[in-house]
Amino acid sequence: MKKVITVCPYCGSGCKINLLVENNKVVGAEAANGVTNQGELCLKGYYGWDFLNDTKLLTPRITRPLVRRQRGGEFEAVSWDEAIAFASSRLKGIKDKYGPDSIMLTGSSRGTGNESNYVAQKFARAVIGTNNIDCCARVCHGPSVAGLMVTLGNGAMSNSIGEIEDTKCILIFGYNAADSHPIVARRILKAKEKGAKIIVCDPRYIETARLADLFLPLKNGSNMALVNAFANVLINEKLYKPDFVADHAEGFEQYKADVAKYTPEYVAEITGLAPQLIRDAIRMYAAAPSATILWGMGVTQWGQAVDVVKGLSSLATITGNLGRPNVGVGPVRGQNNVQGACDMGALPNTLPGYYSVTDAEARARFAKAWGVPSLPSEIGLGITTAPHKIAEGKVKAYYIFGEDPLQTEPDLSMMRKEFEKLELIIVQDIFMTKTAMVADVILPATSWGEHENVFSSADRGFQRCYKAVDAKGDVKDDWEIHSLMAQAMGYPMKYNNAQEIWDEIRSLCHLYAGATYEKMADLGYVQWPCPTEDHPGTPWLYEGNKFDTPSGKALLFAAEWRPPLEKVDDEYPLGLCTVREVGHYSCRSMTGNCSALQTLADEPGFVQIHPDDAKKFGVKDQSLVWVSSRRGKVITRANLNDRVNAGAVYMTYQWWIGACNELTVDHLDPISKTPEYKYCAVKVEAI
Ligand code: SF4
Repeated sequence: MKKVITVCPYCGSGCKINLLVENNKVVGAEAANGVTNQGELCLKGYYGWDFLNDTKLLTPRITRPLVRRQRGGEFEAVSWDEAIAFASSRLKGIKDKYGPDSIMLTGSSRGTGNESNYVAQKFARAVIGTNNIDCCARVCHGPSVAGLMVTLGNGAMSNSIGEIEDTKCILIFGYNAADSHPIVARRILKAKEKGAKIIVCDPRYIETARLADLFLPLKNGSNMALVNAFANVLINEKLYKPDFVADHAEGFEQYKADVAKYTPEYVAEITGLAPQLIRDAIRMYAAAPSATILWGMGVTQWGQAVDVVKGLSSLATITGNLGRPNVGVGPVRGQNNVQGACDMGALPNTLPGYYSVTDAEARARFAKAWGVPSLPSEIGLGITTAPHKIAEGKVKAYYIFGEDPLQTEPDLSMMRKEFEKLELIIVQDIFMTKTAMVADVILPATSWGEHENVFSSADRGFQRCYKAVDAKGDVKDDWEIHSLMAQAMGYPMKYNNAQEIWDEIRSLCHLYAGATYEKMADLGYVQWPCPTEDHPGTPWLYEGNKFDTPSGKALLFAAEWRPPLEKVDDEYPLGLCTVREVGHYSCRSMTGNCSALQTLADEPGFVQIHPDDAKKFGVKDQSLVWVSSRRGKVITRANLNDRVNAGAVYMTYQWWIGACNELTVDHLDPISKTPEYKYCAVKVEAI
């Protein structure tokens, strides 16, 4: 038996795993002593590998290229030559007829690596000629990137996962670490054991609330009001650091004016929180010698998410909790490589290394390296705006790489309708996902465990994954598939291995230039910025309180609170919030095919409902119910739960039956275009 070291393919914690391999089969997994996980794993790390051993699964692995010559017809297994010829000629035809911006593409934040995301965005920009490429950051931490880029100059976590346990106060805002990043939850527990104060702001009494010194069960949709009230108290009670603000921040007078009316008394009705509790919480945060703020999708999946991120950043700034170890701002990125997909430029506004597509000098440099006369300069479409452009007839083809939008996007009936209008759908994936089922061409890829690559963890840490087993079937690495497509469209893209791609990335991106494969070997961990080969990487940003903004100072920001966009009424009286469950990940295609995880949660979803609401609507615990919104209706099982607040219900989005995105609404944050997954009006009816 051999041990192959790799990185867990599920959440952004970046846990190092040893896969145990016998006769080209994975027979187990054990924790490796990685920088973020220190010899621990969660359930998904220990049991999330079964799908590498079999192809005949609940969601089958795709083992051959498939082509459907007519919509509604059957898939036909074809050779790679035929599949590439079919897909590339159709794509070229659409580009020639409607222009490059009629094509939408995605990167992938899942089990594929940075190298493949780099090649995918290069294919979009250098071969197709469009910036219409995006990844699932749009539907998770897009607002964190957009907000923090403005206030601090970097969209990522300022400090490291490892530092969490040594901070003296953790403000956890809209972040259910126990379900979404269990290893980060372990760090929070360790911080508590070392004496840290824990403050949890969340409508549900989540697992970390049990550890909390103060728990603030705010009403759904009141984040901005609470953040403004925190700022109001800090300023009125002079708990902020005036010297830090004077030297390292700008916009204080406007900020002070903007939060002036948000006293704890003013927001009591909006948030449902007692004014004294709000005061106690922010006093606790301000009094700590070091404090960090961690947040998740309870902050970002709202129509006002970017404003709230900027507000949280401002709390850290005025209390001087930046630019040193064990402090900072922590948007804990969801999927294992969503940070990496962004790092590699699978975004409509940035090239690899976060160079703006509007930066003529950067474009010229990349164009020269890629051997094309120019690169597109207009910011492209995101995965949440593309459906609207399909509706307008402006997007005609969608090349979907390692994403499942027909499971994960809001308002799925609208999405399905728009997808029917596309002239070409290419899906590059490892599983027959819901989106793959409607494709015209499916290009089957190798999985995590079957290839080498680099992942970026949530705290900007690059780590290498190694190949454990041979792929089953006639499949290729993602970067090779995009390269074959490029060649068929007349662009000479050719790499021999992932390291060649990584070295090209390093040669073009100052932030990653020193992160060599050698430094990342085995347990190696390199956090960007790492500008030279003798640089050790950067565990925490903004040393000397120099921010990466144009002025070098942190920007302070507050916005008026506004309520959720959809309203509850007599017909739809409950607010639905989408949440995670610990045993499954994302669209469940990987974890749903792992026997131990499947046993843990083996039937379609649930709706968590407060017992008072259940009584009002005649719903019994564990009974089947209909949940309906203005957009759709699904069947699921009721879970009466007094850890959730009355007036709201909670569902996970992984399941094909009971898919809560049949219900969610396509209301977007105006800046990041992230959907308001955390709120739509529904009713729950007993069957
Ligand atoms: Fe670690 Fe996340 Fe994988 Fe669990 S799912 S083992 S916390 S990386």
